[in-house]
Order: sequence, then structure tokens, then C-alpha cells
Amino acid sequence: MRGPKGRSNLAGSVSDPTCATCRRPSVACVCDRIVSQPIQRRVLILQHPQEQDAILGSAQILAASLPTAKLVVGLSWPNLGAALGQGEVDLRKWAVLFPDRESTAQQVTGRGGVIPPTSLEGIVVLDGTWSKAKTLWWRNPWLNKMNRMSLRPSKPSIYGHLRAEPRREFVSTLESVAAALTLCGEAPEIEAYLARVFRTLVQRVRDARIIPPAARRSASKPRPPRTGGAASPRTPKDSSGQ
Ligand SMILES: [Zn+2]
Repeated sequence: MRGPKGRSNLAGSVSDPTCATCRRPSVACVCDRIVSQPIQRRVLILQHPQEQDAILGSAQILAASLPTAKLVVGLSWPNLGAALGQGEVDLRKWAVLFPDRESTAQQVTGRGGVIPPTSLEGIVVLDGTWSKAKTLWWRNPWLNKMNRMSLRPSKPSIYGHLRAEPRREFVSTLESVAAALTLCGEAPEIEAYLARVFRTLVQRVRDARIIPPAARRSASKPRPPRTGGAASPRTPKDSSGQ
């Protein structure tokens, strides 16, 4: 037996329109601010499959702004060349951005010691929360054989309280790549531009009062109770006062 084909009430799930270019909800779209940057070095962004943050993710801004950037989604790749989708790569000319406890300065360290960042042709960055980045790190042993770049961010992340990270020096993928590029000798205007776009994104998300899932998870406050009395589809039958 079939029930009558009633109209389903989707009023509660009508979603915000999505931008066709960046696929973010339009309130979190910054496509109007994207300008292609003149960059020399290559950037490879390895994105954890669960890190496709449609609202605050910063990797997509990098990919849209840096013509030499490549964004790949996955958990493991056999080597750097495979992740880049090409043949052999000279590993000595690449570095991975990953915190190094032993390093006290902003520097690139290789097997033989410290190497000048300006000698690099490309950087690899792991996109995800700290725990997801660590997963990528352990699942791709070749990363550990690469030169490693450590950064010491001088300012807290533009994310602010929208995203909780365990340590102050963990900033967004965009902010770390921006700082890394400057360290490598790219024009500082690129870093300034990226920070500007990212600040616009965070501001738009704040203005729209969207609470991203990451911040929601870390919030300990219970949800406020629902306010009753909203649009009820029922027809009042007992309204006659007799
Ligand atoms: Zn967009």
C-alpha cells in the first residue's frame, strides 16, 4: 500500500546557493578577490580526503591563485613524482612543510644539514587539521626523506577562534604556504595578497554567522533550546471560542 504522494517539506534543508567556481556556499566565496600571482616555485598540496572543508578550507584559494600549485586529494602516494603526476623529480630541490621539534629557526634542513630556502624549486604542504596532517605524514614515508621546512609564525592564525589547533604555531595551509614562499624568496606581495584574501574569507564567514563543523566540535557549550512557535503547517481546528 502506498501512501499519498504528499509534497515533502524541504523548507528546513534549503541550502545556501553554491558558487559554481569554488563550490563554497556563496556567503563563503571569495572568487571576486582571486588574482593569479606571479610565482616561480611549484606548490604541491596533499589534501586529506576528509579535509574538504567547504567553508573555511584554504587550499582551494591557493590552487586558484597560484598557477604553479597542484592540489591532490588522497591518503597515500608512492613518491613525490607520482603525487605530482609526472616522472622523476629532483628531491633535493623540494621541501615539505612540517613542524620540526629540533628546529628553532625558520629554516630548511636536509640530510646534510641546513640548505638555503632560495635553492628550492617546490614545496609540499599537507592540508588538514593537525591530526589529519600527521596521518598523511605517516602514510607517506617518502615525505620523511625530503628536506623539511619549519616555520615560526610570528602571528596567530587568521582563523582565530573559528578553528582550534593544539598549538599557536599551527596556522592554516594558506598561511604556511604564504610564509614559506616568502622564505624561498618569492615576492612578499604574494604573501600579503594571500593573507588579504584569507582575511576576507574569515570575515565573510563570521558575518554570515556560519559555525564551521570544526569549531562546533570543539565548542563545549550545549546548543541553545529551540524556540518554539515557528511555522507550523497544521491548521488550527479548535480555534472556535464557543
Ligand atoms: Zn566562489
